[in-house]
Amino acid sequence: MTGGSGDDSSGSTRYTSSHIIDDECKLHSGDFILHRDGSWTASNGDEDVQTTIDGSNRVITRSLQNWHTHLPMVLNRGMGEGLTLGDWLEKNIFPTETRVTTDFVKTGTLAGVAELISSGTTFACDMYHYPASIAPVLADAGIRGIVCGPTTAWPPPEHDAENEDTRVLNELENLIRGGTLAEGRVEYGIATHAVYTCSEEVLRRASEMSRKYEALLHIHTSETRAEVAQCHEKHGMYPIEYLDSLDYFTDRTVCAHCGWVTKREMRILASHGAHAVHCPVSNQKLATGGTLSYPAMIEAGVDVRLGTDGAASNNSLDMRAEAKAASLIQRHDHWDSTILPPKEAWKLATKDSNDWVAWNLNDIRMRPRGIKNRRLLANLLYSNSDCLDVIVDGNIIRQNGTTKTLDEQQIALKLEEAVAEYYDGIDPPQG
Ligand SMILES: [Zn+2]
Repeated sequence: MTGGSGDDSSGSTRYTSSHIIDDECKLHSGDFILHRDGSWTASNGDEDVQTTIDGSNRVITRSLQNWHTHLPMVLNRGMGEGLTLGDWLEKNIFPTETRVTTDFVKTGTLAGVAELISSGTTFACDMYHYPASIAPVLADAGIRGIVCGPTTAWPPPEHDAENEDTRVLNELENLIRGGTLAEGRVEYGIATHAVYTCSEEVLRRASEMSRKYEALLHIHTSETRAEVAQCHEKHGMYPIEYLDSLDYFTDRTVCAHCGWVTKREMRILASHGAHAVHCPVSNQKLATGGTLSYPAMIEAGVDVRLGTDGAASNNSLDMRAEAKAASLIQRHDHWDSTILPPKEAWKLATKDSNDWVAWNLNDIRMRPRGIKNRRLLANLLYSNSDCLDVIVDGNIIRQNGTTKTLDEQQIALKLEEAVAEYYDGIDPPQG
């Protein structure tokens, strides 16, 4: 280990005898330096760096980016399995969410963030209640995030819903006004849950707030066929058309799911530069029947991202598994085995990442490597490998398979205690 703080070596890491897969998914072998600004260069071996790691059993890639999460819903993972969507919501999710507190949210977020880091993800675009209990957890753990808070009180209060909604919106505005956390690594955004849970007024006000503060606007759109049919019946328009008619879209809009959208709606998304987030595992688990059409979205010019959704409707926050699922369902749906090959699927899952992950090359699932290691990326994507190191902003937040910024064992115990209380007396049947 060489170098000192305050010079160019600060926050730089050298990997020796290693492999790196660059932004274009091209593989390079040798010694590398990962710089604090997120760039990388080949190493001559004599540069000052903060840390040197033997990379001979590692392959380095950009980190994974999760564009749709409800991190505290790790609390709901594995409950109500095998129920219908209606029973799952009414007997499992809603009864617990009436009990949600800032403490539960914090505990669930800690577990969620620990899982993100351990599976090589360094960014989450979240949507949940009590954002002020979520954002500091991401900041302290050393990852990046956009923490979108609610614009409506949910679960709906017994009375005075209108004032309660105003209070929630004002609270969110104060948080956004307060600025970013951790030198901009974590920011607050605005979550309008869906067109069927937000009034026209709430959607308009949230959109105005997004413009005023340049804050990200996050919404579920066209997740189920029933939602789309109801919207058309009520407004004579499909959800994305309806949102457009309200002038809802801003420069920073994230639409999760987009499973039941028309080509006209895709063109609307493209015209606003909106991000459409593909959530293939959640859609399949909840049997929504439709999932985002990747080729059609790309043809329309939409910026597609990838997300797991909450752990309740996925069971996992593992973005590598999500990239595999995306690749499989797109091929299956379109009868075309050439859609989302490994390089494209990996680029989709890591888009805009400025951070790094080192995966275990000694994992048997990474074999065979093939001539010139050309099978490495396909093996990583489809077969998986353990995540050894995670580097964000030059900081090594996980090394040799241990997260340094969080105590995983303590979080696990805390989660068990919290879930016992959260689900006390609620025991939906398991399928
Ligand atoms: Zn969601």
